[in-house]
Amino acid sequence: MTDTEPTDTPPFDAARLAKAVRQRLQSLQRSGVSSIQTQTGQSVDLHQLQNQLQHIQQHGLPIDESGDSQPSVGQSGPSPIDTIAKPPTTTPAPPNPTSTLTPSPVPEQIPSTSPTAQESEIMPSKKQAELDIVCQEVADCKACVELASTRNKTVFGVGNANARLVFYGEAPGADEDKQGEPFVGRAGKLLNKIIEAMGLTRDEIYILNTIKCRPPGNRNPTPEEQQNCAGFLKRQLEIIQPEYIICLGAVASHSFLECNTPIGKMRQQFFEKNGIKVLCTFHPAYLLRDPRRKRDVWDDIQFLMKDMGLPIPEKSEGVR
Ligand code: URA
Repeated sequence: MTDTEPTDTPPFDAARLAKAVRQRLQSLQRSGVSSIQTQTGQSVDLHQLQNQLQHIQQHGLPIDESGDSQPSVGQSGPSPIDTIAKPPTTTPAPPNPTSTLTPSPVPEQIPSTSPTAQESEIMPSKKQAELDIVCQEVADCKACVELASTRNKTVFGVGNANARLVFYGEAPGADEDKQGEPFVGRAGKLLNKIIEAMGLTRDEIYILNTIKCRPPGNRNPTPEEQQNCAGFLKRQLEIIQPEYIICLGAVASHSFLECNTPIGKMRQQFFEKNGIKVLCTFHPAYLLRDPRRKRDVWDDIQFLMKDMGLPIPEKSEGVR
């Protein structure tokens, strides 16, 4: 035995941790929180903290002369990492305390919590590390001979490993196949507008598809291809543990809920699968072909937002 670190200890990645904490802070700021209190009672301005974290993300941890590489808040306070507290569990508590989207209103002062809860809030890296393993398996997968031989990149999924909400699409298209990321083409731009209209960002939700490779010519994924990919989807959802899934379009809705009901009849209601609330709506690509349906999608999205406890913008123009 040596006295060195066990080999399975993940290396400390300051940039990644700083990014994760910044995402959490952005979420808190959107909920109206402007400062947080440390366990020693010090009030820390979130804007200032964000700047410090951005610096760490870009340049790494500052090394001070005492050899202590932790950055400080203000002159001598605890590190920014120590100052992150969990949102209050008092008024009103979100259904899933580890999730990233916090229903409003959120009070100004945030009580401190146990280190364990704190740690799980600011370190989604365990879940992310688990997703990274599945992602690598997807990249190596050759179960669908045709797709494996025609794809450029596999498209695993993207977003926050702690997301409350998952958007579930059909299959990668040409742009996604090139970039290895879901919904980056024209339909993706429209999906971004939907996410934005909800007051959210892609960093706060998770996006994935029924299959991880582009079907040639953008044909629908076959039942066999969906079946081959189902295990990956299952594991992604087991790791993320979202509360809600929005199925985008008929292929995603039918694949996930194993039914054949016309999509128009599935809207405006929740289905339940494995403890997840599932909402079905039209696919953004369909909205590009028939923009009159945007109103319907916005109605569906508001239906979901109400259930999630997310504030609905008063003068919302919906999805344009
Ligand atoms: N359409 C989808 O269903 N998924 C994508 O990733 C892109 C377009």
